[in-house]
Amino acid sequence: MPAETIIATHRLAKHYGEVRAVDGIDFTVRRGEIYGFLGRNGAGKTTTIRMLLGLVRPSAGDVTMLGTRIRPGQQSVFARVGCLVETATDYPNLTVRENLNIQCKLTRTPYPAVDRAIALLHLHEYAKRPAGQLSLGNKQRLSLARALLHDPEVLVLDEPANALDPAGIVEIRDLLRHLADKRGVTIFMSSHILTEVAHLADRIGIVHEGRLIEELDYDELRAKARQYVEVVVSQPERAIALLQQQLGITRIEQTVEQRLRMFDGLDRVAEIARALVNDGLELTGLCAREEDLEDYFMRMTGGAA
Ligand code: ATP
Repeated sequence: MPAETIIATHRLAKHYGEVRAVDGIDFTVRRGEIYGFLGRNGAGKTTTIRMLLGLVRPSAGDVTMLGTRIRPGQQSVFARVGCLVETATDYPNLTVRENLNIQCKLTRTPYPAVDRAIALLHLHEYAKRPAGQLSLGNKQRLSLARALLHDPEVLVLDEPANALDPAGIVEIRDLLRHLADKRGVTIFMSSHILTEVAHLADRIGIVHEGRLIEELDYDELRAKARQYVEVVVSQPERAIALLQQQLGITRIEQTVEQRLRMFDGLDRVAEIARALVNDGLELTGLCAREEDLEDYFMRMTGGAA
């Protein structure tokens, strides 16, 4: 039986005057799945997340969450949803524990949940500190603790890894994986860094200029990374002309100053070296490589490799 759909958007759009922040997005997220919503700055991630949470009214299309059509002011379904939309601390003068106590009151959650959330996010040391004095990374932990406090079925997280150090990123990644696998929590998370979601998400949706341009899982993503021959050579422009004329290699990209990538000619490494050296060019590097996933993401979203 196919897994239950927990979040679905249908032609979801938000326009601000001429700006098409979100431009007709369709996706579904199934129960227990981690969906990574990946896009560069300004791609439309936060606007989408705000519409999922009923914080912004769509210009067109709709969102259904847990079987309920989301409309601004819609309340009941959000008792089952935890969210992280920004790092702003609600009560900067109150301690971490006091902030979580308030969240308990708001969500009618029994108070022992506060200790569990503090333990889960490793916030013991900071429990008595005013939230406004926390480092950015620990503020993010507090926001995550708040999102998890009432044991939600669904988590909607905007850039959860923001401001965390590398160890913190791994820890949060493990925590999210645990919640999805062991508790069946459905997670929708955004990120602008591919490597942050690549190993975690079951499915990745790439959003660019308000549109969902590709949806794929990690294995599909791996398969899309192109292989190429990279050379480091003096006079790269002359080298490009030579490779085109003598060897018929046309798919060449210059990445940084003297570095060229050739996407055809993978089986002709020796020939390439000979042609360049025979022409008197200085060849200081040559190897066959594979694009890393970040290169692929940049290529898909129009950035430099
Ligand atoms: P980032 O990673 O930088 O947070 P994002 O993918 O979350 O980016 P959004 O914040 O959703 O992107 O913004 C998408 C586009 O919509 C941007 O061009 C942004 O300037 C524009 N935008 C967002 N909110 C508004 C608003 N209230 N009024 C006008 N334009 C807006």
